[in-house]
Amino acid sequence: MAANMSTPPLPDPREIRVFGSMHRYYQGPGAVRLLGNVCKSLGSRPLLICDDIVHGLIYGDAGGACRAQGLELAYLRADSEVTRTAVQRLVEQARALPATPDIIVAAGGGKGVDTGKAVARELGAHLVVVPTAASNDGPCSKVFVFYHDDHRMDSVEQIPRNPDAVLVDTALLVKAPRALLVSGIGDAICKLYEGDQVRAARGLNLFGGVSTIAVTELARACDRVIREDAEEGLKALDQKAPTPAFERLVEALVLLSGLSFENSGLSIAHSMTRGLPRLPGVHSTLHGQHVAYGLLVQLILEGRDANFLQQQLAFHRRIGLAVRLADLGATRTDAEAIREVAEGTMTSPHIGHFQTPLDAGKIADAMQQLEDLSRS
Ligand SMILES: [Zn+2]
Repeated sequence: MAANMSTPPLPDPREIRVFGSMHRYYQGPGAVRLLGNVCKSLGSRPLLICDDIVHGLIYGDAGGACRAQGLELAYLRADSEVTRTAVQRLVEQARALPATPDIIVAAGGGKGVDTGKAVARELGAHLVVVPTAASNDGPCSKVFVFYHDDHRMDSVEQIPRNPDAVLVDTALLVKAPRALLVSGIGDAICKLYEGDQVRAARGLNLFGGVSTIAVTELARACDRVIREDAEEGLKALDQKAPTPAFERLVEALVLLSGLSFENSGLSIAHSMTRGLPRLPGVHSTLHGQHVAYGLLVQLILEGRDANFLQQQLAFHRRIGLAVRLADLGATRTDAEAIREVAEGTMTSPHIGHFQTPLDAGKIADAMQQLEDLSRS
């Protein structure tokens, strides 16, 4: 190469619109029975990674669908926390199989999916995700989280590509515990407002560029569908049968919410998840409850009017989402506790995604306002 040839500079990421997504999304009753066709199009040696309970739920249909296409669906049990050690052990077990898998089928609520993503990354295999609850925005995304054995967060990780396919079997999801669906609603209802703050701050999304028109519209649809269908969708769980409202709600929580956060970026609601676990009692509450609470704090910081805030509080109460620290299981809600959460929140990588610069004092004030507001 000639000595005077210099590397052309990369463009300013703030001038590059990026949109990324999973390759295929399938949703409906019995969608897991499409696994054979999906795997056949990707490779020849699928490996299911999930816990024993999920295996019991899906292996009959999933294994049968693969056999019908001449594929044998191998299985490895993932039943611990998503730790580096647990993933390494599974990778070794996968490599010791008679034929190294070329497709990982990651199934479950959160842990099975994240474990499967981690194993697929190590093996360089294709990835098919089969969620068994609409409890979070993870199935369509390239992000997963490593934990320590004591459930403290270790690191946020990425797979090089989003999943090849996501199969959302609503006949399965409609039998999941209500608390998981409520948590999924909490994780999704904040996406429009967080994305709008990233856009206001001209921040970058998870693909390292800025928002498209596409994601802004998807986030609006996510918000609208949740507000219209969340209550009807929750009722479907009582009947254990998917309804049109349930199908729309699941699409909002799994597809639209996942696309929204990766293509918009995250803001204050998710930043609160760095601070809230510092309080005793909050640790074991579901992620969607943390971010639902965080959304209320964010809306106060945005300076939303009293009417808007009251409507949002009323929605949270109807669905069963947190409106104050005690709802998250916090045993301390005094000024010192609030200050600790606010300081933890300031350590989030998303904290700069806001219309004006924030500090721990401003966040603590907003949290205190929310405590007062939720009592009225
Ligand atoms: Zn989330």
